[in-house]
Amino acid sequence: MILVLSIILTVLVVYLYLDVWFYVQARPPIIQKEPTIPAVVPPEQTDIPLYPDLKFKSIVRTKGVYSYEKMIGHLQALVDQYDLLTVDIIGESVERRAIYLVKLGHGPKKILLDGAHHGSEWISSFLLMTMVEHYAYHYHTGQSFFEYDLRDLLSTYTLYVVPMVNPDGVEIVATNGHSSLNYDRLLTFNNGSRNFALWKANARGVDLNRQYPTNWHLARDYGPAVPASANHAGSEPLTEPEVIILERLQQQEQFAAHLAYHSVGNMVFYYYYQTGRWLERDRGLAQAVANLTGYELRHSSGGIGGMERDHVVTTYQIPSLIMELGINKQRPLPEFTGMWERNRKVPCLVMTWLEQWEP
Ligand SMILES: [Zn+2]
Repeated sequence: MILVLSIILTVLVVYLYLDVWFYVQARPPIIQKEPTIPAVVPPEQTDIPLYPDLKFKSIVRTKGVYSYEKMIGHLQALVDQYDLLTVDIIGESVERRAIYLVKLGHGPKKILLDGAHHGSEWISSFLLMTMVEHYAYHYHTGQSFFEYDLRDLLSTYTLYVVPMVNPDGVEIVATNGHSSLNYDRLLTFNNGSRNFALWKANARGVDLNRQYPTNWHLARDYGPAVPASANHAGSEPLTEPEVIILERLQQQEQFAAHLAYHSVGNMVFYYYYQTGRWLERDRGLAQAVANLTGYELRHSSGGIGGMERDHVVTTYQIPSLIMELGINKQRPLPEFTGMWERNRKVPCLVMTWLEQWEP
């Protein structure tokens, strides 16, 4: 009986072994493919900013689109907290939202920083508001901001910050079009699409960065002839209230330099047909900013006329840099921490550089 059982067991073991062996042999060879790295999709709801060097609980935060409503709440809280800041309303958008100007400093020389000419580029508003808060905090506490002394810099300069030039455009993105007073009209401007994530224009379908007088006719000929989500230059230059407000500010204040914040490209633009010493100065400053941020310095104009930079360079003859902050058009928030680290010192560098430049 034991012998019979042993034989059966042995046969079974041999059978199983052979079966496994044949299975292994019969398997197709493993194809050595490129390892597939799963795409990292950061959560949309990241509570940003998460600064490693943060020594205070920040007011300026967002978990999604940095909307006009959020910005107003933060402006109020910042004004309450910091004496350094003043906030003025310098005009109204097409849909009667306020356009805010934040002033930081007491210096006679002035630098203009503006963000969100384009609605979908609201991350530039968030960056500028974050900058306002950090500068105000370091000024207030007297702490150095990296190698910079903000109390010293802001006694020579005043930073003029217009964090959201196009609040209607930002709200169109934030509410997917439902902020608009006329949703159906907006839908036609958007080519029938109900996705407004990439909307750049103002509430009338005019691209505010194609509205400035310098070579405006090129923007008109290049862009769509009718209102659209982007690139429509309008019927004439300076028809839109948002642009008129910025132009008036430039005329009144005679800035020493201008930084225009946009969000797509990881680049710095500065060139618009300057020559001689004028070119040397503007290129020198842009190069210093590119070195600091790691952004690619673009020596071409990169535009087709009607842009704010084109107009500021030719009309006011001051350095005017376009800062293209990141890459992702639809979901820029996961890029924000790196964006902030690259950009936080830029205005300090600009102020210091201008003081040292010998004409
Ligand atoms: Zn832009």
